Amino acid sequence: MTDQYAVIGNPIAHSKSPMIHEAFARQTGQDMRYERILASLDGFEATIRELIKQGYKGVNVTVPFKFEAFVLADARTARAMDAGAANTLIFNEQGIVADNTDGAGIVRDIEKNLQLPLAGKRVLLLGAGGAAEGVLHPILACKPSLLTIVNRSMDKALAMVKKAEATKALSVTTLSGCEFNDLPGQEFDVVINATSAGLTDTALPIPNTIFAKGCLAYDMMYGRETPFMQQARTNGAIVADGLGMLIEQAAEAFYVWRGVRPETKPVIEMVSAL
Ligand code: NDP
Repeated sequence: MTDQYAVIGNPIAHSKSPMIHEAFARQTGQDMRYERILASLDGFEATIRELIKQGYKGVNVTVPFKFEAFVLADARTARAMDAGAANTLIFNEQGIVADNTDGAGIVRDIEKNLQLPLAGKRVLLLGAGGAAEGVLHPILACKPSLLTIVNRSMDKALAMVKKAEATKALSVTTLSGCEFNDLPGQEFDVVINATSAGLTDTALPIPNTIFAKGCLAYDMMYGRETPFMQQARTNGAIVADGLGMLIEQAAEAFYVWRGVRPETKPVIEMVSAL
């Protein structure tokens, strides 16, 4: 019998996940089906229970359900615990198992695809929402020399720092939180935009001087040139969007479900060409 998977969100029509997982399944010869499912804002749990009843094996979870998915689970992986959110659910004999593959996705995109090791780098993380939470610990595990989190609401950046300090040994990384106003005078080797400001074409209040020579400016958004990308490009940074992260996090979820790691390069090329 063909195994069934899905991505659940609201909205969901834009999701590229079915195309990506279908490409992985073709490439690895896995007998599976993957679809988009729109859940009503108060209907996430009911949708999950129904899918389990129908025999689905797992789902990906996207905005705005990643925190609810984490809470709903019967068991959680260490990386889901670190993130406090889930983007991947596995339905098995343990019940609902929550995982989070976003961090593995961005690290693999930066270190493997873009060939930039994060060890020893000065990293700036812009944003303190679900996406930033998801990538914080995996980035810390790469041992940057410094990691600064900046958020419009600074209390959220400080809360992330506090939580990370409580759960992880930070012997090689100086971790701090600050507000946008504190950025003048600081420069970074890697600047990651994990805010959703690009969705509304809003520029971030970041000085041009934060981009060190050879800086990688990474926007988690994909499919459009954001004001962040434009500013970084103008200031000499190497610019990347979040398409590679999307495909790498999907590959990690595929591996968790199927035990087979797909080749991501041809899928990145296929989706980039659309
Ligand atoms: P959340 O809604 O959880 O968080 C949004 C963040 O953006 C908050 O930190 C918020 O600050 C900040 N923000 C929003 N508007 C502005 C603004 N105008 N100026 C400054 N800061 C702003 O969203 P997510 O964390 O889930 O997603 C963030 C982005 O990452 C989205 O664009 C999403 O598409 C992308 N993403 C990409 C993935 C990929 O695979 N490529 C995976 C996951 C996410 P405040 O707290 O002050 O409101």
